[in-house]
Amino acid sequence: MTIYLYNTLTRKKEEFIPEDANNVRMYVCGPTVYDRAHLGNARSVVVYDVLFRILQLVYGTKHVTYIRNITDVDDKINAAAKAQSITIQALTAQMTQWFHGDMQALNVLPPTKEPKATEHIKQMIDMIEKLIAHKKAYVAKGNVLFSVKAMPEYGKLSRRVQEELESGARIKVEGYKKDPNDFVLWKPADAEDDSSSVFDSPWGKGRPGWHIECSAMSTQYLSQNFDIHGGGSDLMFPHHENEIAQSCGTYPGSHFARYWVHNGFLTVNGEKMSKSLGNFITVKDLLDKGVKGEVIRYALLKTKYNEPLDWSEKLLNDAKKELDTLYRRLSKQEQQSDDVSEIVNALSQDMNLPVAISALHANPGNGLRKMGGVLGILQQDPDTWFKGTDSSGIDIEGLVNARRTAKKAKNWAEADRIRNALKQQGILLEDRPDGTSNWRRE
Ligand SMILES: [Zn+2]
Repeated sequence: MTIYLYNTLTRKKEEFIPEDANNVRMYVCGPTVYDRAHLGNARSVVVYDVLFRILQLVYGTKHVTYIRNITDVDDKINAAAKAQSITIQALTAQMTQWFHGDMQALNVLPPTKEPKATEHIKQMIDMIEKLIAHKKAYVAKGNVLFSVKAMPEYGKLSRRVQEELESGARIKVEGYKKDPNDFVLWKPADAEDDSSSVFDSPWGKGRPGWHIECSAMSTQYLSQNFDIHGGGSDLMFPHHENEIAQSCGTYPGSHFARYWVHNGFLTVNGEKMSKSLGNFITVKDLLDKGVKGEVIRYALLKTKYNEPLDWSEKLLNDAKKELDTLYRRLSKQEQQSDDVSEIVNALSQDMNLPVAISALHANPGNGLRKMGGVLGILQQDPDTWFKGTDSSGIDIEGLVNARRTAKKAKNWAEADRIRNALKQQGILLEDRPDGTSNWRRE
């Protein structure tokens, strides 16, 4: 089985050839733990979870190393902790726990390892010292800055040339920067900083820049050269570009990641998701409304991973209906086939999710359990799936049970009355041979 991936670095769909098929290595930028995971974060995590599952199927579970980090030191974290008057430690511990809970609800597998930035400060300092020694970085007023001009290849991922970057840089340039594009590797602590975000370094007390965190953690667990680096398309510039510059600057002759995979962004009803627009949706918001995690996951997987995804009520309702259809079909099949070739074929073609989902719907039901497993769905017992209360507050289960009792007593008039009452609420019943019924929304 050959996997093809669209490589942002070459702008081509390429055959995936790992450096070592006995240890296929993937790094994905994880969350900055200062807030609840929103749907844009969830999309990225779910997309790479599917890629992780395909790699495991093709190369064997033991032969894939997937690293997704936790960024627990960052300016946004400091600001959020200060705003809530809690310690950085308390904030990041809580947010990390919530992130894990939300991702578990979306049936996301844990990565092989989930390193925390604060536990890798030494590795970051080592890298920064090497960059200074290689004249790729310089110290200025307690900051250490990466010298973009020292890397002629800078811009190769985002395809931006340095002159273009300069003229486009409208942000205020701090006086200590030699070049407006130079970025921070280490910054000095502020007097009021919480001690859990202050670290000793050869340049004084301070904290690392965000970009160096990913370079240090990917090298630590995957070595200087590895196979796949993933993340949202919004991270391509400057974050991923800077990761390449730092890693290749530290280890001359290395290439860092071979394949760069970027998932598309997520909009809500055609607009960018933002707190100021009031359309900011977290995973928790939906779970609290009674939306099943699996429905959210399925909705996130309906669009090709590298295309924009527009979130809407309709997308979510359609996802629920389609999963109901698949679970109904699954409940009618006792024999389950192990053949997942159709779905793996679709996913090996640059993770073609729409084709994979179509393959599920084309299946008569006997392959759904295993096929769904490749996408991380359809693993529940159908009876469990169809159980539950309706968001409108009607006790559907109660009515379904009352109708079953009526049918047993051959009280057909009462059974029909309940069926019609439910139909008026938009709920359809489907009788099964054993006398029980499934219900679904029209
Ligand atoms: Zn990163």
